[in-house]
Amino acid sequence: MSRVTAQLAEVQAPLSAESLRADFPSLATRVHDKPLAYLDNAASTQRPQAVMDALTEYEVEMHANVHRGVHARSDKATAAFEGARERARAWLNAASGDELVFTRGATESINLVARCLDHRMDSGSEILLTGMEHHSNIVPWQQLCQRTGARLKVAPVLDSGALDLDAFRGLVTPGLGLIAVTHVSNAMGVINPVDDICRMARQAGVPVLIDGAQAAGHVPLDVQELGCDFYAFSGHKMYAPTGIGALYARAPWLDDLPPFLGGGEMILEVRFDGTTYNTPPHKFEAGTPNIAGAIALGAAMDYLAGHGLARLAALEHELLEYATGRLLDVPGLRIIGTASPKSAVISFVIDGIHPHDLGTVLDHEGVAIRAGHHCAMPLMDRFGLPGTARASFAFYNTLEEVDRLVSGIGTARKLFA
Ligand code: PLP
Repeated sequence: MSRVTAQLAEVQAPLSAESLRADFPSLATRVHDKPLAYLDNAASTQRPQAVMDALTEYEVEMHANVHRGVHARSDKATAAFEGARERARAWLNAASGDELVFTRGATESINLVARCLDHRMDSGSEILLTGMEHHSNIVPWQQLCQRTGARLKVAPVLDSGALDLDAFRGLVTPGLGLIAVTHVSNAMGVINPVDDICRMARQAGVPVLIDGAQAAGHVPLDVQELGCDFYAFSGHKMYAPTGIGALYARAPWLDDLPPFLGGGEMILEVRFDGTTYNTPPHKFEAGTPNIAGAIALGAAMDYLAGHGLARLAALEHELLEYATGRLLDVPGLRIIGTASPKSAVISFVIDGIHPHDLGTVLDHEGVAIRAGHHCAMPLMDRFGLPGTARASFAFYNTLEEVDRLVSGIGTARKLFA
């Protein structure tokens, strides 16, 4: 077999969670003396060794400040930092790396846009959201409304958890200031038809921001094909560290918007009688950036791309199908968000068991899930619930871990139901 054929065979070889788990040392740890079954990936994913190695390499080989240095370490750090920006560009298929602003994460990315849009909003402006948004994609817009007098409109969610697209269409009117929607619901896993949404927006001449926090590590992305104006995401939900993320914004926006924060890096010239700003993306990156985080984000993207995001997503889909089937067999259990397509997130309630009690019982079995309102209180209100239990999967989870989840639920039912 030639080397190329061998490499191809390796690339084509089916992936298994068991082999991928070896790349994630944290998955081999124990909790309450039980093997960890980490099913809280929508909150934050674990990091592969390759990401930790990239961090260590940065610290040892090149840590120095970026862009302004006149020495070799700074040049090396700058090259690695800008290399990470290029990886983020490629990840989203943005037209240029200048359209990628590094931020602390999705929350800061959305706040950046909301802050910088003030000058385009007034008391006649409206912003369209959906009823399934994370608080990060609600509160910054409420704050913008308080500053400018603009108003929010909210498209409803159907009983299945799907966005009511007909109602949404009716709310997309010319003159709308902005549409801000989540790509994937963190509380239900429901995937929104962002292609349709962007098409509707384009026809009406309305800009669109997509909150991609739950999508960027699971769904192949192409912002040019999508035609969105802004796309926000966080590194820690895609196997990179916390405190790093990015905002994609189409170039004309970054030219047009005023800067977000002021300080070093974002200027060309500062005098007491005025300041000229740097070109994008630096205009929006005041101060010393999270250099290590950006480099580690690039390493996480390399890791995912190396295995093929579609192949990893197929593993997650298998987990979703298996876990949905097993959970639906549990008496008194109801899944919130049954629409398809879905990412590998399952929110559920069980008659007679508070989600927090369930979470505690499962924790003692070594199974980590999330319980509560998932920073989506309006969605919980929509379903008349204070909260749900949520199991969210990554490609490194196994069917056996799903079985442990179901068995732990059985224990909780014996105690509470
Ligand atoms: N948007 C969605 C859909 C999320 O799930 C989250 C986090 O859970 C956020 C935004 C905020 O992300 P971060 O806390 O990383 O800024």
